[in-house]
Amino acid sequence: MKIGIVGGGFMGLVLAHEISKTTAHVKVFEADSQLGGLATHYDYGSFIWDKYYHVILPTDNHLVSLIEDLGLENKLQWRRSMTGYYVNKKFYPFSSSKDFLLFPPLNIIDKMKLAFTIFYGSKINDRKKLEKITVKDWLIKLGGQRTYEKFWAPLLKAKLGESHDRVSAVFIWTYIKRLFQARSSAAQKEHMGYIDGGYKTVFDRLQESLAKRESEVLTKTSIQGITANTKGGINLEYQGKREHFDKVIFTGPLNVLEKVSSPNLIDITNNKEDVEYLGVLCMVLITEEPMTPYYVLNLADKKVPFTGVIGMSSLVDVKQTDGKYITYFPKYVTADHSFWCKSDDELKTIFLEGVKQLYPSFNETLIVSSHMHKAFKVQPLQVLNYSEIIPKMRTKNPDFFVVNTSQFVNDTLNNNSVVNHIKDFMVDFEKELKFTSETV
Ligand SMILES: Cc1cc2nc3c(=O)[nH]c(=O)nc-3n(C[C@H](O)[C@H](O)[C@H](O)COP(=O)(O)OP(=O)(O)OC[C@H]3O[C@@H](n4cnc5c(N)ncnc54)[C@H](O)[C@@H]3O)c2cc1C
Repeated sequence: MKIGIVGGGFMGLVLAHEISKTTAHVKVFEADSQLGGLATHYDYGSFIWDKYYHVILPTDNHLVSLIEDLGLENKLQWRRSMTGYYVNKKFYPFSSSKDFLLFPPLNIIDKMKLAFTIFYGSKINDRKKLEKITVKDWLIKLGGQRTYEKFWAPLLKAKLGESHDRVSAVFIWTYIKRLFQARSSAAQKEHMGYIDGGYKTVFDRLQESLAKRESEVLTKTSIQGITANTKGGINLEYQGKREHFDKVIFTGPLNVLEKVSSPNLIDITNNKEDVEYLGVLCMVLITEEPMTPYYVLNLADKKVPFTGVIGMSSLVDVKQTDGKYITYFPKYVTADHSFWCKSDDELKTIFLEGVKQLYPSFNETLIVSSHMHKAFKVQPLQVLNYSEIIPKMRTKNPDFFVVNTSQFVNDTLNNNSVVNHIKDFMVDFEKELKFTSETV
């Protein structure tokens, strides 16, 4: 049986890895010249690291299992990490119970309310009710206005930019579950992980393992059309060719799905509302000295053009990055944001002004290089009643499937959720493969 996979990001390649364990033959199509999608790597000059920052949490059980399955467990490094807050022009650590108790922007009552919100959130198992209330209303209801403004709003803005008040409470519920459990219960200290060599190591190993099983992976091959074959199966159109597959799985964003798939395969425009994605603009600075002691600095200062600072080198051994320090400055924005019209140089100038606001003593001569990365479709916005507007994995055609990040309803966008989503898909798909090969 021949299976086509559209998209060579983490979803597409992990899916190919799982399907290649069956008797099916897999072929992956990636439009870009490099595999990895949003988790791909970038050449920063004297070293290669992730284009966008990626971290692994101790609670990422599905992802860690995949890493073990790929034989990369020896390359997985766990390190103590720190989170910081920037409130009223001051930096505060927020990584341990002690930091929490000492956190000056909140008084003791606020802290009790915050602790209650986190505890209460971590005990909820059913997302349904949370889908009906905005995250802002839910957090204010549980923890009050001050706790929201001083603690939650910076965190939400770092993750969702100006759209943070449109998402449902599911977003913060999944976040609480994922992030706050990352603190090891023994030490009550935050730990995070990375793979030596960054995500490139994972993609290289996935590719090697696919090659061993004779699966094909094509880069620079954009799928332009997906149509039903009259005798069963699906045709993929690319580079003026048409190739037949028994089954096809689409893993890219929904705007591409709408553009390339024929309307009789899937009708996502039937929904009253479309899934909206946030994009990300992310400046990366390579410097001779560290810029921040925190892996994540949450900030919500209107004068600063980015919404967080990710000190990758506070986590990753600098030997991995040629002795240089790598810091990411992301801003999550909607598709209509004026920043999309600006050139990379204009954006760098704006972001660098923000760096100077945040760190007035920062010495620009320490910058080795600066980079501006942009991705238009990144984070599906989990608005109210989100689960009602997403496409199903099964489509109108029994041989065509959609498996992508817009379908995460119990999770935020992360690679642990990707692996988990594929596990769920494979339960059904393996039965399908077995049934089809028995009936052919
Ligand atoms: C700034 C940022 C920070 C992040 N931090 C973390 C983190 O710390 N931890 C974590 O676990 N996750 C993190 N993530 C999320 C992680 O990157 C995603 O979960 C993952 O990359 C999603 O992979 P995907 O394959 O579903 O989507 P994508 O990476 O978007 O892959 C889709 C692929 O489809 C291809 N494609 C599109 N159209 C076509 C076509 N017509 N033909 C062929 N190919 C096509 C695209 O080129 C792309 O490669 C982060 C993401 C971002 C952007």
